[in-house]
Amino acid sequence: MAVRWTFTIVAILMTSLPLHGVAGKWTPEQLLEHDPAWLKELGLELSAEELWDLEKGGLLEAIIKIGGCSAGLLSEDGLVITNHHCIFGILQEHSTPERDLIASGFLAAGREDELPGTGTRATVPYSFTDVTAEVAGAVPEDADDLERYRAIDRKTKELVAECEQREFRRCHVAAYDDGVQYQLVEALEFPDVRLVYAPPRTVGEFGGEVDNWMWPRHSGDFALVRVYAGGENQPVAHAADNQPYRPRRHLRISPEGARPGSFVLVAGYPGITYRSLVAAEMGERAERFFPGRAHLYREWLDVMEAAGERDEEARILLADRVKSLANREKNARGQVAGIERGRLLAKKHESEREVLAWAAEQENHGATVAAYEELGKLVEEQSATWDRDFLLENVGGGPMALDLALRITRWAMEQAKPDLERHLDYQDRHREKQLDGHRRDQKRLHPDTEATLLVDYLGRLAALSDGQRLPAVTALLDDARDAEQIGPFVDHLFTGSSILDLDARLAMFDESVDELRKRDDPMIDFAFELNAEILAIEERAHRFDGAVSRLRPVWRRAVRAYLDRPLDPDANRTLRVSLAHVEGYRPRDGILMEPRTKLAGIVEKHTGEDPFDAPAPVLAAAAGAPESRWADADLGDVPVCFLATGDTTGGSSGSPVLDARGRLVGVNFDRVWENVANDFGYNPEIARNVSADVRYLLWMLEAIEMPGSKALLEELGVGIPEE
Ligand code: ASP
Repeated sequence: MAVRWTFTIVAILMTSLPLHGVAGKWTPEQLLEHDPAWLKELGLELSAEELWDLEKGGLLEAIIKIGGCSAGLLSEDGLVITNHHCIFGILQEHSTPERDLIASGFLAAGREDELPGTGTRATVPYSFTDVTAEVAGAVPEDADDLERYRAIDRKTKELVAECEQREFRRCHVAAYDDGVQYQLVEALEFPDVRLVYAPPRTVGEFGGEVDNWMWPRHSGDFALVRVYAGGENQPVAHAADNQPYRPRRHLRISPEGARPGSFVLVAGYPGITYRSLVAAEMGERAERFFPGRAHLYREWLDVMEAAGERDEEARILLADRVKSLANREKNARGQVAGIERGRLLAKKHESEREVLAWAAEQENHGATVAAYEELGKLVEEQSATWDRDFLLENVGGGPMALDLALRITRWAMEQAKPDLERHLDYQDRHREKQLDGHRRDQKRLHPDTEATLLVDYLGRLAALSDGQRLPAVTALLDDARDAEQIGPFVDHLFTGSSILDLDARLAMFDESVDELRKRDDPMIDFAFELNAEILAIEERAHRFDGAVSRLRPVWRRAVRAYLDRPLDPDANRTLRVSLAHVEGYRPRDGILMEPRTKLAGIVEKHTGEDPFDAPAPVLAAAAGAPESRWADADLGDVPVCFLATGDTTGGSSGSPVLDARGRLVGVNFDRVWENVANDFGYNPEIARNVSADVRYLLWMLEAIEMPGSKALLEELGVGIPEE
């Protein structure tokens, strides 16, 4: 042992990578459970209570959620920092071929010019209450898995309904590791969010998909939005006379930034990770899910990109669908590559064998082995209809016309049930969200492309094996495997359908099943057929979910007991904190990546060709950057991006990166290629998240002067000093 330690220390000194990362996306509650001395040793100068006190809240109240991303409140007037890629949809919504805000970027000259984002919502955390006992208590002793699912579903909906009786609350029950713990999350959800500043695309995503998920990185992936509220500072729908939201807390900017070795804390809402899965489940992700996703998305991207190349209007209409699919497609390839490279499946098996051997000897972990085996069996059972289920889950990513019809018809079908028995997304509390979805999607529709995507999609459904093929598809085609028939069938679905018309869709919304049927709209009729089958399939999925909620907690509790240390739950879009240090890494033998990039690097990468086409004003101003007040003394230039050992994932995009005293030094936006598969486990050697340095944002606002930028710098507390 002693020999190994000596070796490690020498190795660390030689590579000048002095600190190593700490796994963990900690809940605010877990932060309070950590040993304060350990937190201090890592470098945190605030107390855990200053971050989050169960009674009084804390600085983490400034960490908010915007759509699927994270963000941070920065001023008394509801100004918020997040990523350029997180507000890309607002740019796309307001762009036309004549006024392409995606290309030019946007800065509101005054507050009256800020751009509302239809359907963009800001969620501010309020409180977390453990409701594990209530949820568990709602499950009858002799419940089978489907009954179990239903009992949990009903209880969580009741808790939410009760919680939302409180004024302006938005609530949900979050399950941690499928039920080790349940928490009632109370928040305020603001539906009026407006874009204040976004850099041009050639800054915000400099390097494009070539650099995405890579290092070294030179993207200014930051943006500013403002949250608006009603007269009582409460969440209200968008209205011209709303006032900027006045938050209880906001973050302050550190003009000193982050330097190699400094402690940083990444706070946000990581979306989904797979660390609590057992090896069999992980195998399904590695061998089917991610390869399947990479393949499917690539094909849909080809369709959309080709349409965009032919037609400028199509390019703008499809821009944010393309961007998000491309991001996820590359991520999927990164997961597959990372799992293989890190031998993650083999390692998972090894670590599980240890837990199983240990559990077999414990008196109180008798159920562990059985739970573990049953989780594996569920994967086998699901595999028979895997292709079909995968296609149905992905309907939202491609054939949007069908997806819209499914949403309209499903709303009508669910309206017939009591609210508490409906699918969560179709409860009355989501009415506005559903309507916003229809309004927003209108600006993403490109009719020719929708037809091509639907032909492709139905072709895939038709090509499923006999046991998986949906009767709705088979019934509508003489021989569903005959691809020749699909084109005419899709023409038939669109001819006489008003699904692509927003006014018609809004009129259909709230019509009953009968009323919709009477319309004789072929797309709507087809969606009804499909939905009837989807509902039956969902019942099967609920039974699986019920089983998982019974088994996973048993397994995870054993893992936790075996490790005998705090164990963070898998990401589930709840507030988490990762404790990290600014640090480089070695991606491969012989390569040492430095932890920071600078403006000179943009000039160096600039070719004038997309995606390395920096805007002329940025290139011109870069020459004077070393003299700017935002230059870093050690770098001799304005810093652009930095690496840290943060434990992050999708959804951590936009997470504020704070220094030891809780001041903002950057905004997280990505991970390095070798670390994409950290969704399956944290490896301190390569676990690096990528953040934009806040000084790059400040430099952009100051050096590329535009109407409105001075006022913003003032608001950010770093107004331009008098000469
Ligand atoms: N780039 C990511 C995202 O889009 C962040 C990450 O996965 O690390 O959410």
